[in-house]
Amino acid sequence: MSENKKLTTASGMPYFENEDTLSAGPRGPLLLQDFILHEKMAHFNRERIPERVVHAKGSGAYGTFTITNDISSYTRAKVFNKVGKRTKVFQRFSTVGGEKGSADTERDPRGFALKFYTEDGNWDLVGNNTPIFFIKDPKKFGDFIHTQKRDPYTNCKSPTMMWDFWSLNPESLHQVMFLMSDRGTPFSYRHMHGFGSHTFSFINADNQKHWVKFHFKTQQGIKNFTNDEAVKMKGEDPDHAQRDLVTAIDAGDFPRWDVKVQIMTTEQAKTFRWNPFDLTKTWSQKDFPLIDVGVLELNENAQNFFAEVEQSAFAPAHVVDGISYSPDKMLQGRILSYPDAHRHRLGANFEQIPVNRCPYAINNFQRDGQMRVDGNGGKAPNYFPNSFDNIVADPEYKQAPVELETLVADFYDRNAEGENDHYTQPGIFWREVLSATDKRNLVSNVAGAMKGIDGPKKAEIINRQLCHFFRADVGLGVAIAQAIGVNVEDAMPKQHSTDKSIV
Ligand code: NDP
Repeated sequence: MSENKKLTTASGMPYFENEDTLSAGPRGPLLLQDFILHEKMAHFNRERIPERVVHAKGSGAYGTFTITNDISSYTRAKVFNKVGKRTKVFQRFSTVGGEKGSADTERDPRGFALKFYTEDGNWDLVGNNTPIFFIKDPKKFGDFIHTQKRDPYTNCKSPTMMWDFWSLNPESLHQVMFLMSDRGTPFSYRHMHGFGSHTFSFINADNQKHWVKFHFKTQQGIKNFTNDEAVKMKGEDPDHAQRDLVTAIDAGDFPRWDVKVQIMTTEQAKTFRWNPFDLTKTWSQKDFPLIDVGVLELNENAQNFFAEVEQSAFAPAHVVDGISYSPDKMLQGRILSYPDAHRHRLGANFEQIPVNRCPYAINNFQRDGQMRVDGNGGKAPNYFPNSFDNIVADPEYKQAPVELETLVADFYDRNAEGENDHYTQPGIFWREVLSATDKRNLVSNVAGAMKGIDGPKKAEIINRQLCHFFRADVGLGVAIAQAIGVNVEDAMPKQHSTDKSIV
């Protein structure tokens, strides 16, 4: 056994009594001078930091990203620059709508956030287990999330709020169908795919740009709970996914994902049927085949959940040379909102926290702020330019100017062709991707979820949402109408259209 350690206060003072407070006589009252009691109570009162508004319940682990295929013709990012190259990563999985203590098997998308500790700085890819999302404009995000949280009056989750919002925002249909399929209740974080979801750009050594989407295909195989199994597991082990991840890694059964990309040229983007930067759409893999990149492996559990997983902070703003943004409106909104959330939750120096800290050189003139614990630049100059240090803005990292093509301007026309087709891809998903069992379960999951709609607007909300299902596919609409006991003739839309104004 190792040598005994002395018990100390937070300031390091050894002391001998950690159970009974100093009192006036054996029966009290207590003496104010026992500051150790105050220290213990005061620190305990401050143990909680603000919960993430979304993605509050999560699990994380460290791992490696290894390159297996050369994609340097698309990107000069150093993380991709050699077959066999390994980069350390930290990954956090999460559910989205629930609080920090909510069950892991809730029907919800799953967060799939990665931090790659690259030599050009930390690259954060902050995606989900779905390639798409419910909305495509960040202005709607707060409203949407309110509908996934608690009703302000009942303080309960409200299917009425959810379906009201979804039915009023038909761009959500594609993701609603993913959510209502059995992939909405994955068995564990190890058994689901991951997606960067947004369109990003790759920049190569010749400053050429390609649009890119990232895919992570689970090597463990897709495995889902049925709705009944997920509900049962909520009671048996609400931390099922957390336990599954930690146990597998502890046992040396390291989860792996094949990392792939889809590439679209800037020319192809001009004639793509849909807006290539619309987060509610996928790029068909038949037209834009998956290209192998590497393997992601998680092989090291965090030693302390709060220090590493809870304090981990990811930001889509954090790209590195060779990887850049796209005009995806949701991405543009998240570039702003994620670092803002971290400054609120963890403070101005959140990037100093070890799990978030770039292990390579950090040279800048940002100083001070709460919880600055890294030496704060020492006695070096705290302004730029100056005559004393040798920190330079390296022209090697200069980016090519971004061309704003007429196509980009067109995106401001919200009714331009390809902008408001909310139904074609959900229809393809229903007809061509889902198996007979997947379809049966999706219909039953939708019916179960829609049963919770109540109140004076019940019929209006149900009919509006049914119209969307019908517009995606008549067979889907009929199946859901029958499952929820609505007369099919009444529910069938009189006109098939993609025009949002008639919805
Ligand atoms: P493909 O037939 O080339 O690809 C279908 C994709 O769907 C595969 O990635 C497959 O991945 C995935 N898939 C299979 N079963 C399910 C399921 N139950 N839930 C969710 N995804 C599933 O077709 P396209 O690329 O042309 O896409 C057709 C439709 O597939 C799209 O409209 C979209 O709804 C859906 N989809 C498309 C993706 C894309 O990035 N193109 C990604 C995921 C879904 P796997 O079998 O490995 O799970």
